[in-house]
Amino acid sequence: MSADCIFCKIVRGEIPSKKVYEDEEIFAFHDINPLAQVHFMIVPKQHIPSLAEADLSHQAVLGRILAKAGELARAQGATDGFRTLINTGRVGQQEVYHLHVHILGGPDPLGPMLVRKK
Ligand code: 5GP
Ligand code: ZN
Repeated sequence: MSADCIFCKIVRGEIPSKKVYEDEEIFAFHDINPLAQVHFMIVPKQHIPSLAEADLSHQAVLGRILAKAGELARAQGATDGFRTLINTGRVGQQEVYHLHVHILGGPDPLGPMLVRKK
């Protein structure tokens, strides 16, 4: 837990969110500024700043997030595929330093993963 982390506050219910799912280890909620028809994030309840700081002690919770992604995406309407995205650190242009997995889905296709520079 981190006192002034916004995603820790969302997990604790101190900042409101549109919750998608919660269990003892993970929490999922809609992105406040959606980039696709389906856009929510799955986070560990435990404060891990980013994937760069994750290690084998986080294996179970990271696996749990991915193992739940398909079921939650389908339930939100992404019935024909989706994209998972983890922005990490400065180069990954991470904005919120509490590890989160974005789930982005259609039904419309999402476009290219990255725009190729000429
Ligand atoms: P990042 O760039 O760190 O991968 O993405 C952070 C995401 O968190 C952004 O897509 C942003 O819209 C979302 N976000 C930031 N603050 C809040 C908030 O207070 N509530 C919710 N639901 N999403 C947030
Ligand atoms: Zn946090």
